[in-house]
Amino acid sequence: MRSACSIRVRGIVQGVGFRPFVFRLARARSLAGWVLNGPQGVEIHVEGGEAALAEFIREVETQAPPAARVASIEVMRAEAQGLREFTIHESSQAALPTVRITPDLPVCEACLEELFSSGQPRSGYPYINCTNCGPRYTVIQRLPYDRPNTSMSPWPMDAYCAAQYQDPSDRRFHAQPIACHHCGPHYYFSRGSEVIKEEGAAISAAVRLLGEGSIIAVKGIGGYHLACDAGNMQAVGGLRKRKYRKEKPFALMTRDLAAAKKLVRLAPETEMLLESAARPIVLAPASVELEDVAPDSDELGVMLPYTPLHHLLFASGAPEVLVMTSANRSSEPIAYRNEEALEALSGIADGFLIGERPIVRRVDDSVVRQSPFGPVILRRSRGYAPAAAASLPAQRPILAAGADLKNSVTLVVEGQAFVSQHIGDLDHYECLRAFEETIRDLVSMYQVDWKNLTIAHDLHPEYFSTTAASRLKGWNTVGVQHHRAHIASVLAERGELHKHVLGVAFDGTGYGDDGAIWGGEFFAGSVASGLERVAHLRPAMLPGGDAAARFPVQAAAGFLTQIEHLPDLGAAPFHFPSRFAHSVALARKGFRAFPTTSMGRLFDTAAAMLGFTRESTYEGQAAMWLEHLARGANAEGQYPFPFDGRQLDFRPLLGAILQDRLSGRPLAPIARAFQRAIAQGLCDAALALCAPRKLDTVVLSGGVFQNNLLLEDIREILSGEALEVWINHAVPPNDGGISLGQAALATMVSG
Ligand code: ZN
Ligand code: FE
Repeated sequence: MRSACSIRVRGIVQGVGFRPFVFRLARARSLAGWVLNGPQGVEIHVEGGEAALAEFIREVETQAPPAARVASIEVMRAEAQGLREFTIHESSQAALPTVRITPDLPVCEACLEELFSSGQPRSGYPYINCTNCGPRYTVIQRLPYDRPNTSMSPWPMDAYCAAQYQDPSDRRFHAQPIACHHCGPHYYFSRGSEVIKEEGAAISAAVRLLGEGSIIAVKGIGGYHLACDAGNMQAVGGLRKRKYRKEKPFALMTRDLAAAKKLVRLAPETEMLLESAARPIVLAPASVELEDVAPDSDELGVMLPYTPLHHLLFASGAPEVLVMTSANRSSEPIAYRNEEALEALSGIADGFLIGERPIVRRVDDSVVRQSPFGPVILRRSRGYAPAAAASLPAQRPILAAGADLKNSVTLVVEGQAFVSQHIGDLDHYECLRAFEETIRDLVSMYQVDWKNLTIAHDLHPEYFSTTAASRLKGWNTVGVQHHRAHIASVLAERGELHKHVLGVAFDGTGYGDDGAIWGGEFFAGSVASGLERVAHLRPAMLPGGDAAARFPVQAAAGFLTQIEHLPDLGAAPFHFPSRFAHSVALARKGFRAFPTTSMGRLFDTAAAMLGFTRESTYEGQAAMWLEHLARGANAEGQYPFPFDGRQLDFRPLLGAILQDRLSGRPLAPIARAFQRAIAQGLCDAALALCAPRKLDTVVLSGGVFQNNLLLEDIREILSGEALEVWINHAVPPNDGGISLGQAALATMVSG
């Protein structure tokens, strides 16, 4: 007796070897039918014996290829058609491009083995890949994902590759970017007028220079890296100088896991992050000190090799630990086109390892860390983008423009929220262009009609993203308050749009409903019913507004002028520079000063009082410096940070720090007691605000929660309480997660 069924599989199922996987399963059970990429996912028709069908369905569910992410499987009874064999149908051009595009994948074990075995057409070939591995998002020009629509189109396959591409039993069946030495693109080495074309020699030349302390630009998956020997102080120092990067930590790539373990302490969960398919940069506690790599930090950012070229570099003798930092000058976006890289990096790199395959769009390395509440993504890019980060019940497509710092954009199509790669800080012209390109790219890739789009943006009238969003001609435009978007991003990730929670947004900066600079906010409510601001940090004046973020002593002015009997901070032990006195004058006059409730600026104030009186060279630096300092002391004693039902009062807190500084208490315990006070104040306020509203869940989001010590304290303080704590896992707690939150709140407005 022959039975039949139709199966529809949704999720990340295109370009991940799903059809050949289905083909092999069906053949193994002697089932007949077909599989194809349909408009909404993979569609299967299968017929045969009842028992074999049941087995087949179970295997489709449980044994999907490693890169696939199955969202749902629908099985329906169908009419048997008397088919004799199982076949793979070509993807039809008419299929709608709503099938999700998969993120780029690291080279797989099978390909690595082939890479290092001799005498094969792909031995030592840096572009080796298969359906289980290799580039996706960075080579796709348009959908459907077929070779002519990728950046591999200039390299027709030879007979060897074509045979594998057409063989359903081969692991390269329909692997779009496959190639070999004979037919595919190559890497070459270039230094001044010297060009080395032969691949092995090109890699050796780069390796030799790395060993000698040179800086080499290396083309990767989503852009160029600048690489140098992390153990060579002169090389690292030279890179800092040439890149105009004074203090921001550099990422490292180690030859393998064993080499990583010599640098950082890896808990089992952290090790899993390091080896996960996204191959992100993982921040973990340092167990060695590497001069100049990550100043004033307890952590090192480490990643493992993820392209065949990386493996070839290490196998050819590159130093076991390399600095691998995005190739750009200070805050510019990462270079990804060959001509552009050669020009922009000419004064930085001593040599170039250039790959011929074009990168379609720039995608930086992602950054993650294990927190006391689970993994946190600090920069969501390669390996994650453009996968959907959430499902939203949106009836029409939504484009959310994000915020101006650490920008990402989100496009919601058919209820799926696709969050773009990390774009950067939009005050830089090149980043602003990348922002506009990414929007056009996503909208056209998913074939969304601009006229149907709801466009969500931040309320800040001076944000570039706001201005750009208001120029787009969509269906309608929705302004979303920055900190509500932070809270909504967590709830969107969890699909909890109706859950009533207490949302705590501790952040550097964001435009408030009243035009003030918010950043220490408590909200009660839900995404669906709205988030009402119920409490906040006591306001202070912020001279210079958002610009004060660069100067901790400037931020300190408004906070400290509220303290009675303020000592002379220009004198010992504080030694505040004259900028402080000028800022105090501005704050008093109210000239170019704005009220703020920013928790980030309160951290800056404390950092300034503890000696961070210089300019900070990247966002959040002073707070990171303070956390580093605090980790040097035990948690004993804390400062008062009282909550009166409406406001957290910083005056007793800062007053206590002043006293301790004047009496000569060492810095580390002061920093530690400050951190503890912030955590205690937050928890006191949360408990006080939750009880009368019968809320059982606290949602934490905003840049301040990148501070792991703060999360550790919160967890400890709340451990005996009946409050659940939710944080971001799929998008960053910093402004990289804003676009998802905007999309969630806009869903409620636009219906
Ligand atoms: Zn592979
Ligand atoms: Fe923010």
